[in-house]
Amino acid sequence: MTLTAPPLEFDVLVIGGGAAGLYGALSLPATLRVGLLTKDPLELSASGWAQGGIAAVTDPEDSYALHVQDTLRAGAGLCDPEAVQFLVSHGGDCIRRLVEMGVAFDRYGEGLALTLEAAHSRPRILHAADRTGRELVSTLAEQVLQQSHIQVLEQALAVDLWVADGRCYGVQVWYQGQLQTWRARAVVLATGGGGQLFYPTTNPPASTGDGVAMAWRAGATLRDVEFVQFHPTALAVPGAPALLISEAVRGEGAYLLNHQGERFMLRYHPDGELAPRYVVSRAIFQELTRTGQDHVWLDMRPMDPHQAEQRFPNILRTCRQWGIDPLKELIPVAPAAHYWMGGVLTDLQARTTIPGLYAVGEVASTGVHGANRLASNSLLECLVFGAQLQHIEVVFHGVGGQGNDHRLGNGHLANPP
Ligand SMILES: Cc1cc2nc3c(=O)[nH]c(=O)nc-3n(C[C@H](O)[C@H](O)[C@H](O)COP(=O)(O)OP(=O)(O)OC[C@H]3O[C@@H](n4cnc5c(N)ncnc54)[C@H](O)[C@@H]3O)c2cc1C
Repeated sequence: MTLTAPPLEFDVLVIGGGAAGLYGALSLPATLRVGLLTKDPLELSASGWAQGGIAAVTDPEDSYALHVQDTLRAGAGLCDPEAVQFLVSHGGDCIRRLVEMGVAFDRYGEGLALTLEAAHSRPRILHAADRTGRELVSTLAEQVLQQSHIQVLEQALAVDLWVADGRCYGVQVWYQGQLQTWRARAVVLATGGGGQLFYPTTNPPASTGDGVAMAWRAGATLRDVEFVQFHPTALAVPGAPALLISEAVRGEGAYLLNHQGERFMLRYHPDGELAPRYVVSRAIFQELTRTGQDHVWLDMRPMDPHQAEQRFPNILRTCRQWGIDPLKELIPVAPAAHYWMGGVLTDLQARTTIPGLYAVGEVASTGVHGANRLASNSLLECLVFGAQLQHIEVVFHGVGGQGNDHRLGNGHLANPP
């Protein structure tokens, strides 16, 4: 006789272990039994790759009104103003909580060090050198692993949502060589973006848009899926991955040059290199079309070398691995697919249009990004909307209801386990 493990049951199943999934799991009431599953080992996510930092109003000389204004302007008039106000005004609480948890943001004297990024009217980006995502994710993962009410299941691939009678009851998962159906009173999609649908992309291999696909098959409403952000400055060396070279590099004095050595961005926008991302990406694309080249140049040489080594150790090390010393020579860069503004439609409590199904982080469309995300607003979004899971509605129900429509995604019939 073959013994098989019984199907797992949780109050809440969180799919994804990036910033949104981890912070969301930590925000859920500790009275709930939580499962957090990731298709890769926990340490692999786009969140861990984030370099620049987290945008938040922490400086008394800054204001919510300015951060809102910058976000709306970058979003090209297509943001939801209420969602933007919500994002900006809840950011400070999340940052305080991260500091209490031990996230080691860079300091300037007693205070938090802040840097400027494109389309921000003030320096408001908190950072930990150019490894902000790694610092954030490792602290959050450490916290999650200490919680007895959260069970982490790595290398568990969510394949489809279990939806019956219009409600989400769990997830179909490929785990330990078997397709299993795991039951939950609520399911949270935190599966990140879909950069791997494009080439080149700055995203890690896991960013294949699984959450959006599962939600779509289950009948959830999606929004703005056509809005994909291309980061202007990815490393463009033949054979090398499209390493992102953070906007913060331009915020701290690096320039873009074309093959004639001209600082061309000033021809396209009065803010030059610090124009919104889509403006810089389009300008580079136009330069490439005009000159027939496949890259422009990023010049970090105007920066103070000591400061550059302190702030951007990872970027410098990776460029040097590919034979370029940014403090001595120009870096070839070109745009690459980077961030998916659209996704699964949610309200301010991270609820999707399917009862029992929530979405947080890049997979969600909260309305804060409009047509173009403001730099460093995405980690903030992971935190602010992840925190809303504290209000999650966990319904006690007869799984599958009275009906017989026990669907896994759209149209796959299955019996409840
Ligand atoms: C190189 C780079 C630099 C960036 N820099 C910044 C920055 O400085 N500031 C900023 O705000 N934003 C930055 N971003 C964007 C930001 O990192 C992402 O938007 C954010 O981290 C998304 O977090 P997330 O938790 O939603 O998803 P992710 O961090 O991508 O995590 C997704 C999780 O879902 C899991 N998963 C996916 N599909 C499945 C499945 N089918 N089954 C089970 N598990 C699944 C994955 O294993 C992973 O654990 C950057 C992005 C990149 C790629």
